[in-house]
Amino acid sequence: MTLASVLPLTSPALDCSRYAKGLYIGGAWVAGGGIPVVDPSTEAVLAEVADATEAQATAAVDAAAAAAAGWRATPPRRRAEILLRCHKLMLERADELATLISLENGKALGDARGEVTYAAEFFRWYAEEAVRIAGEYRMAPSGSNRILVDMEPIGIAVLITPWNFPAAMATRKIAPALAAGCTVVLKPASETPLTAYALAELYAEAGVPAGVVNVITTSRPGPVTAAMLNDARVRKLSFTGSTGVGRTLLAEAAKTVLSCSMELGGNAPFIVFDDADLDAALDGAMVAKMRNAGEACTAANRFIVQNGIYDRFAEGLNKRMAALRVGAGTDPATACGPMITRKAVEKIETLVADALAKGARVTTGGQRPDGDGFFYPPTVLVDVPADAAMAKEEIFGPVAPLYRFETEDEAIAMANDTEYGLAAYVFTSDLKRGLAISGRIEAGMIALNRGLVSDPAAPFGGVKQSGLGREGGIHGIAEFMEPKYVAVSF
Ligand code: NAP
Repeated sequence: MTLASVLPLTSPALDCSRYAKGLYIGGAWVAGGGIPVVDPSTEAVLAEVADATEAQATAAVDAAAAAAAGWRATPPRRRAEILLRCHKLMLERADELATLISLENGKALGDARGEVTYAAEFFRWYAEEAVRIAGEYRMAPSGSNRILVDMEPIGIAVLITPWNFPAAMATRKIAPALAAGCTVVLKPASETPLTAYALAELYAEAGVPAGVVNVITTSRPGPVTAAMLNDARVRKLSFTGSTGVGRTLLAEAAKTVLSCSMELGGNAPFIVFDDADLDAALDGAMVAKMRNAGEACTAANRFIVQNGIYDRFAEGLNKRMAALRVGAGTDPATACGPMITRKAVEKIETLVADALAKGARVTTGGQRPDGDGFFYPPTVLVDVPADAAMAKEEIFGPVAPLYRFETEDEAIAMANDTEYGLAAYVFTSDLKRGLAISGRIEAGMIALNRGLVSDPAAPFGGVKQSGLGREGGIHGIAEFMEPKYVAVSF
């Protein structure tokens, strides 16, 4: 692949270069190039986006600072109306946005459409929350004064997002930040920046004032984000990405004692008990594993299946995985698109080889196809031993490893044997048992008899090394606010 292979027109419907006008700072485009955006289905370069310097990152903070007072003073009702328009415009442009996501990320169009709806919904939810921000007013226990608590916007927020949900990971932060009255600088992943830039224009059209949302891309995320995090005007870091980068950023943020929200990696167990409804468990498994071709932080990473149902579950899963069509994300017939990069495919290959060397067996897939594109087929591995590397690491691909268990305690111990604690899935027909088990699993989110947990109205986030704080629901806006306490004597 070379830059000579840049395609001016990447699909009959979409010219990606129109989303690569430069950095978006203070409502204007600052021209630049240098970072190629690759279509993972073809390995062709779709466009080239700007590569910000530290000085340009500071200019983005300048723009956010210049807009801060005005946005903070904008009445909540007005902020809400603007957010609602963002929601409406995103849905009106769902086809265009889904195609763009599919092109730069590779995900199947159906997944991309689902992401646009999910991403847009954060604007509607936080438009509704913007006008319901409540403080407190009560008598101090001593009786000497009143306690008045006001919720204030925390200040300028730096938002850093991953490539796996180019729209939703950004709107899950931008919508509550704006609802709270904060201005932001977004740094999207360098693999999928075009969606972030397309949305920046959409926000402006919806009425978001210049400087309230700024977007920069960089090939040197460490120093360039450090320039912002070390800027005393910045008061918040909201990061979604890997646990490793999250640790680095927490250390950087410690220098200015920055408030941090961290949405990090996962290693979700998917527990199937003998008494589970088999079809429901298989339906759930396909969603939990194959949404986004397995490239989701909530993706089922370990299928922990009770002995009595193990063979039937494995047979059903093999049939469903083998039936999935692999292809370019933008092909409407595709169910499983490519991985994001060649490196991601190589990591999956290494994990599968390690499991096989330790005694696992492949019953579906397992062989990378020849040709262009970063493809890996839907794969099922049975009898995976507990010491396989994939039991501890995120696979982040379409590989379903099956582990066996006999007793409930054994299943819980296996589920909790990880540094992560993001999502978990439990399938049982005994709701009482399901709820009791939900209480024993160390995870921020449990899906009970279903394969999907994400909901803009619910608190999304993890425990242990899966993160700090929550996004979505009433909790998400609190991450962008600080309580201001005033002791009042009459
Ligand atoms: P990543 O490598 O951690 O990158 C995430 C973001 O951080 C990107 O914008 C990246 O920029 C940036 N970054 C990388 N190194 C940095 C540094 N030293 N300083 C500042 N920023 C830096 O993660 P990813 O591969 O994009 O995403 C996959 C991971 O995200 C998985 O672990 C997944 O579980 C996690 N994730 C978690 C959630 C959640 O809600 N908990 C949701 C989605 C994904 P560049 O692109 O330029 O490297």
